[in-house]
Order: sequence, then C-alpha cells, then structure tokens
Amino acid sequence: MGYAEVSVNSPIAQRRTFSYTIPPNLSIEVGQAVWVPFGDKILQGIVLELSHYPSVEETKEIAGIIESKPVLSPSHVLLARWLSEHYLSPLFDAVALMLPPAFERKVVTFISSPATPYECDISSLSQGQRHVLELVRRWGKVSLRELEKVLGTRQARLITSQLVGQGLVVKSYELARVRVRPKRVTYLHLRVEADEAKLMATRLREQGKAGKQASLLEFLSQVVQPVSLSEARRRANCPASAVKALVSKGLVELQQIEVKREPISYQGITPSEPLTLTAAQRAALNSIKSSLLQAAKGYPSPNIFLLHGVTGSGKTEVYLQALAEVVKLGKRGIAMVPEIALTPQTIERFASRFPHKVAVLHSKLSLGEQFDEWQRIRNGEFDVVIGSRSAIFAPQPELGLIIIDEEHEWTYKQHDKSPRYHARDAAVKLAELTGAVVILGSATPDVETFYYTQRGDYHLLQLPERVTPSEGSSLPQVKVVDLRDELKAGNRSIFSRSLSQAVTKAVAGGEQVILFLNRRGTASFIQCRSCGFVLRCKRCEVALTYHFVEGVLVCHQCNYRIPVPQICPRCLSRRIKFLGIGTQRLEQEAGYTFPQARLLRWDSDVTKRKHSHEEILNKFRVHQADILIGTQMIAKGLDLPLVTLVGVINADTGLNLPDFRAGERTFQLIAQVAGRGGRGTLGGQVVIQTYSPEHYVIQAAAKQDYAPFYDREIAYRRQLHNPPFTRLASLVYSHTNDTLCQREAERMKRLLIEERDSKGIADLSLIGPAPAFIHRLRGRFRWQLILRGSEPSAFLSQIPIPQGWTVDINPVGLV
Ligand code: ADP
Ligand code: ZN
Ligand code: ZN
Repeated sequence: MGYAEVSVNSPIAQRRTFSYTIPPNLSIEVGQAVWVPFGDKILQGIVLELSHYPSVEETKEIAGIIESKPVLSPSHVLLARWLSEHYLSPLFDAVALMLPPAFERKVVTFISSPATPYECDISSLSQGQRHVLELVRRWGKVSLRELEKVLGTRQARLITSQLVGQGLVVKSYELARVRVRPKRVTYLHLRVEADEAKLMATRLREQGKAGKQASLLEFLSQVVQPVSLSEARRRANCPASAVKALVSKGLVELQQIEVKREPISYQGITPSEPLTLTAAQRAALNSIKSSLLQAAKGYPSPNIFLLHGVTGSGKTEVYLQALAEVVKLGKRGIAMVPEIALTPQTIERFASRFPHKVAVLHSKLSLGEQFDEWQRIRNGEFDVVIGSRSAIFAPQPELGLIIIDEEHEWTYKQHDKSPRYHARDAAVKLAELTGAVVILGSATPDVETFYYTQRGDYHLLQLPERVTPSEGSSLPQVKVVDLRDELKAGNRSIFSRSLSQAVTKAVAGGEQVILFLNRRGTASFIQCRSCGFVLRCKRCEVALTYHFVEGVLVCHQCNYRIPVPQICPRCLSRRIKFLGIGTQRLEQEAGYTFPQARLLRWDSDVTKRKHSHEEILNKFRVHQADILIGTQMIAKGLDLPLVTLVGVINADTGLNLPDFRAGERTFQLIAQVAGRGGRGTLGGQVVIQTYSPEHYVIQAAAKQDYAPFYDREIAYRRQLHNPPFTRLASLVYSHTNDTLCQREAERMKRLLIEERDSKGIADLSLIGPAPAFIHRLRGRFRWQLILRGSEPSAFLSQIPIPQGWTVDINPVGLV
C-alpha cells in the first residue's frame, strides 16, 4: 500500500505534513492537489512526497484528486519545504506561493448514489432517511448545503452519515464555484455552405420579410475568419431576435470559445534586434553564455553572477541577450524587477525583443488575467516571465535563467506576511534545485551579495561605463556641501548657497531639477545644526531615536534611554533640536526661494490621494514642471533627459536610522538619485547637502564609487558582528498593553537564553528587548528582540513560538 505526505491547508498544520493512505483507485503524484479528511473537515492539500510507510500509525485515506495534473513541480515542492524551514513559516503558506491564483477555495460536499446502487429494503429506513434517498435519486447529485437547507444542518448531517455508512449514498468533494472563469467569447458561424446561405438570403428577401436575417446570412457567407457574435451583429446591423430566428432554423450556430486575456498590448510595439555589444558587455555575456552551456550539459559551474554596472551601463541589454541564449538552448527564463520599475516601458523592452513570448505577473493584473497567465506559463507558452517579487514562483517549465534586476532593492523581501522570504534567496535556492543560472544586477549591490563575490561564491561581472548618451559618457559631477558652513555664514534656509544658485540657473536655462529628500526616519533623530553631531547609543553605535511624547532619546536595539540634552555635548550650541523636514515643508520653501519655477511633489501621500506614479512622472517628463520634489521613489529607474541637476537636501537623515544597514541604504539612495541626473546630452550636476561631509558613505556616494564604500562597510560589519558575518532574526511581540508587551519580551528573552545555554550554543547573542522602531502600529505596541548568530533560524525552529510573536529571518529595514 502507498502513502502520501500531504501539506494541508489548515492553520493548525504549521510546518509539518500529514500521512494519508492512497486508495487503490487513485493514482497520486508528487505536486498533485488532493482532498484530504482533516479533523471533521475535508481540506485541500498538496502531495509533497510518496512513501511505502506512513509517518504515523493510523492514517486516513485521501478523499479525492482536485486536478490530475500536478500543480507543483518537483523543484517547487523542495523549494516550498525550504521556505517553510528557513523562514519558519507554515508549510502551506509556502506552498500557496506557487499555486495558481484563486486556488484556495472552500470545498463543497456532494451526496450522490453509488456507481452500483445498493439494493436494500426501503421499509427498514426511517422516514428522514427515505426522504434523503429519494432526493438524491431524483436529483442525481446534491450538495450537502442544499440538504441542510431542506432538513436543517444537524438532521442533514446525521442522515447522510447514516446513509453513507450503509453504502446507500456516497460523498464527493469539489472546489467551491470558481471565482475566476476563463474569459469566453461567443462566436457565430454558418451551419450550411456559404452558397446555400446566400440562396437562403435571396429567398428571404424575395419573400419580403426577415431582411435583417438575410443581411446576417449574407455577411456570414462572406467572412473568412470566424467572427464574434457582437461583431457580426454590429457589422450586419441586426438584432438579437434575428440571430435567434436563424439559430432555430438551423442555419447558424453559436459557439463559446475560450480566449486568453493578454495583459501586454503588442500594438505599437515594434520588434527589436539585439544591439552590438560593447567590449564590457560582450565579456559579461560570454561568461554567462559559457555557464549556460555548462548548465545545459549538466556540469556544475559558477551559476550565480553579479552584474555590477551603473545605471545606463547596458545591463538590461545583457539580460536580453542572455535570455535569447537560454531560449536557443531550449530553456526559459524569469526576469524580476522591483514592483515600481514594472512599468510599461520595462515590459515593452522585453516584449519587443521576444514578441508574444513574454508573460507579465504583477499585483495590478485582474484575478482573471493572473489566472490565465499562470495557466499559459505552465503550458510553456512563454520564453520569459517578467514580474515583481512573486514572479520567482511562476510555474515556468525548463527554467534555465533567473534575472533579478536591482537586486539590492528591499521590495524583494516580503516583510508583511508569512513566509517572510527574500526573492533573491529563493532564486538562489531554486537555481540550486533546477540547475538554472542566476544574474543579479545592480549599480549598488547589496553588501552581502558583493561579499559573496569576494569570497568566490558568486561570479562578479562589471560594466564600468555608461553606454548612453554615448559610450563612456561621464557620470554627473557631484558637489558635497557642508551645511555647518551655511549656518556660520548666516544662511538659515534649507537650501545651501550652492544649491540655490544651481537651481536658479538650471530653471532659467529651461532645464529640470530633482530635489530629493530621504524622508524615512526624518524627525526620528536629533542633530546639532551647528556641528552636525548626532547622539548615538554607547553600546550599539546606532543613532538614538527621539520619542516626542516622553521627551527622551531611546536606543531601538537595547532600550538605552537618556533625556534630550538642551545643549550640544560636542560644540555646546543650543541648536541641538533640529529634526529635519518633510516634503511638504520642502515644497513650501522651494516655492519661496524659487518663485519662478513650477513645482511638482511626488511622494506616497500624493500618490495615495489622487495621482498615480505614472501620471506625475509623465507630467514631469513633458516638462509641465521644472522642479520635482520627492522621496525614495525618485531614485527608481527613471530616464529623464532634461534633468541636469539633482539636489540631495540632507544626506544624513538616512545615515542616522537605528539600523545596521543605514549606511548601505544611504549610499544606494544617493548613488541612485545622482544617477538620475545627466541622462541626456545636457550633462548633469549633483549637489549633496550634509553635516558630515567626511563620512565614508557620503564620500563614496559623491564619487559614485562602490569599492571604497564596500571596503569600509564590510570592515564595520565584521567588527560589529553584523551580516554577512552573522545572520539575524527579529522577534516582534505586539499587544495593546505596552507594559505587558515589554514583560512578554523579557520573558521570551529569558526562555531563549535558557534554551541556548542548555544546548551549549556559543555563537548566538540576544539583543534587546527594546521598543520596535515602529513602536506603535494600528493601536498595538510592539517590542523587539534580535537574535544574532550563525544559524538563528535553525535554533528558533526547535522552539515553539507563542501567539502574538512575529519572527522574521534576515529582516531588512526597520520593523
Ligand atoms: P542599464 O540596464 O544598465 O540601466 P540599459 O541596458 O538600459 O542599461 O542601457 C542604457 C541605454 O543604452 C539603453 O537605451 C540601451 O538601449 C542603450 N544600450 C545598451 N547597450 C547598448 C549597446 N551595446 N549599444 C548601443 N546602445 C546600447
Ligand atoms: Zn554641536
Ligand atoms: Zn543600544
């Protein structure tokens, strides 16, 4: 007898599978979706493994097959298991990432007569039983719900289980009504030969009646291609009654045909040819090609590449040609871009190189479109699947290449629900399971990714120069302005003298300006406006966060607290309480300072309220505004040739976040916004305002030089035992009562320390508890513990985590 290990769609299933017996009449495969009895319910499950022995003594039988074709490939089954183990998420949550859209539905139980009806003496049955049997025999198949409506829930359940026990009826299960149905179009065609139709039409006209029917017949006898009902009616100008009449005469026929919704409109997209590569691009592509060849032959080879090149250095062209190569080898690819970069322009670039061979997956598609795309991808209809984070789980068969553009982007990490996975880590794992090659691309690689290239795990490819506007185009000039000098010189404006001169000049010259504000964390730390000093935690080195209500500064790692000082401890100035500004203030000030300029603000407040990103961007692109004011969003993949000046209002805000990645993030943002300038032929200039011009992050970002940044950063990481030298896990507890929350966090810490010590694990430290950076969220307080060590995930997997806790393995950003 065979057994199946099944991941069951139930919150209590957690990280484990359940053993079921395979009934002799069912043929079960790994990856198949099945119905299984679970408690007193029937639930969906996915078969993850087949075995000759069950993992428990008593097993129930699989109740039925949902779909005969497996929904998960064998590699996806292993990937799901890995996700669940690594991120400590319920197994079915991980499995669900790979299921077709709208797959998770309720089950409907049906009652019907058995295939070979069982003869019995009706008179021995109760009246209720006879009634139900009668209904089932009359209706053929009836849902339990319907019976419940007729007899009441309890009676219906009781009687059916009695009848099932006697073998008089059987139960079966189906998914509840499909919420998304494939789109169908009604077509109309002749049931007779065209000549005959024409003859009929003439006859109808001669009889002087049914002129509309005649025109429809004439129309249909002329068309070659099949036509839809609506088109036929419109073109022949005929009412529904005429169609109906012809159908009843047997002359025409209606037919429902399933059509595919196509999210890419190929109208206006002209096919593009591969460009002649520059030497650097060619070298990069050649390395990738030989790896693809090796992989196709089944040889192990370096299969993870980091393609490091500034914006405009031609990375995308390398992706496109690598994809063409993998297609030549009979395989397919997945290309991921950050959600915000998944614009029509990006899609168009892929679609024009692979016409009608590109599938798009993103959250803005309707459920129907997602459903269709998923099915078509699984059928192998596309060379490339392009999408954001979740595209990594697309059912792309014969996967040969995975591309992650802007690999350092934090949107690749799912942080708000389980599994809290990072798409890059999932991609690396999937590549290991499938033999696919991975290309990670970035102008400002994640420090961890770069570290792996240095250690030899990944292969580094570099494109050192911009291709546009012409080969070897220089990067924009960067000027660092020391804000401390401004105050000394009596300038109290938020614009330094250099920046305001540059803005005025650019606007007067008909050019465009971007003013960038790193708003995340503004007003969270306190900085001396005279000398730029920022108060930091003595123990953790991170900037202290200002808690407005209590008037204290708090370390969000270890909970160290001090009152807000009245004077600067370094220069004794009283201007210590400088909290930075928001985009609205910036817009106002820009209005006073540059009265002649047309301003446009772009931040999440604006886009949430009325305008889409695209609208705002288009407005700027067509030069309806001179100055664009915005936050991080500005940094993403824009190509704006009229922009000649980028001003970074205060580069320090990002540096002073209580996060060990603050420096990295700031470098990435500044380097990226700086990269926005000078994309056109006009050249460009960047002005960075800061209180700490000597900081290595500012220095390196100003030169847009990754190497010096990386060298210093990795040294700090090593010194402070931060990733990639350790791994982190954050545990957040949330509750409406702050004190209770703190107490639970302390209790958990003691428990974890006890566990650690009893297991004798040396390299695991616990930091905190401290209030989470976002201390209060939707009315609940949050306290955080951080685990740091070589394998915090493995350690935590052994410990039952109580309700109310959220675990995030390798968290990014502030929680
Ligand atoms: P990245 O992805 O690094 O930002 P892109 O691939 O988008 O760079 O290239 C920037 C611009 O240069 C694009 O307009 C692209 O068409 C063009 N380009 C890229 N490679 C070449 C090449 N070898 N020859 C000419 N133009 C190129
Ligand atoms: Zn000071
Ligand atoms: Zn601290």
